[in-house]
Amino acid sequence: LGTLYVVATPIGNLQDMTVRATSVLGQVDIVAAEDTRVSGGLLRHLGVRPRLIASHEHNERSSAEKIVTMLQEGQDVAVISDAGTPGVSDPGAVVVAAVLAAGLKVVPIPGPSAAIAAVSASGFTETTFRFVGFLPPKRGARVEAILQLAEDESLQIIYEAPHRILDCLTDLRDTLGVDREIVICRELTKTFETIRRLPLGEAVEWVSGDSNQQRGEFVLVLSACQKPVTTEEGLPADADRLLQILIAELP
Ligand code: SAM
Repeated sequence: LGTLYVVATPIGNLQDMTVRATSVLGQVDIVAAEDTRVSGGLLRHLGVRPRLIASHEHNERSSAEKIVTMLQEGQDVAVISDAGTPGVSDPGAVVVAAVLAAGLKVVPIPGPSAAIAAVSASGFTETTFRFVGFLPPKRGARVEAILQLAEDESLQIIYEAPHRILDCLTDLRDTLGVDREIVICRELTKTFETIRRLPLGEAVEWVSGDSNQQRGEFVLVLSACQKPVTTEEGLPADADRLLQILIAELP
């Protein structure tokens, strides 16, 4: 029986291709790629020539069935997306689910992912984060989604496209307030990599004031909601402290 390898590929810098990922792509019989033209370029660069098939969001169910058959016939298959880790805001999960359901072996080959790179460079010290991925493209649905995450006490990892970055930051500011902090990670691992931490109020002005900051690929790391510490009675801790002082001082 064959093995399905879930292989991470670079998010911009080809040197981020891991040694193990390169060797797996050189050894498998078939590579299932999100876009065979994009991945063809990477495979040529790596000097490997596996058979390429297409597996993207529009054919993932039928390609999953084909991949299960190939594995049952003893062929090894690697699944890759255009960039980063398959299954992270990218196709891959449907194939993996089908392969697991068929009782076959799945092996992840970890490597680049824009989300994890952004968390690592954010400087936020919270230990929990939520991977949001892309927010809805339409404003109404986007504001609703932002309201859903507004009070979450974890970091929020958001992917955004360049033509929506300003609208997205504006909605974040208008919904969450000017003081909430965000780290804007642009063009990670590439020539124009930019990482900037600032309050939402300043973020909108900074990005709108410089068209270069509206180009490329973005991950936004939104700071966690800081819930006021409350007492057992549900009073904010500072109000409670004030009350205790007043009680002590009053005759
Ligand atoms: N599977 C990929 C991963 O593991 O990161 C994500 C694929 S998703 C379709 C593409 C989005 O990821 C982009 O719109 C952007 O938000 C983010 N992204 C990918 N590469 C990036 C980079 N080099 N710098 C910043 N964001 C990036």
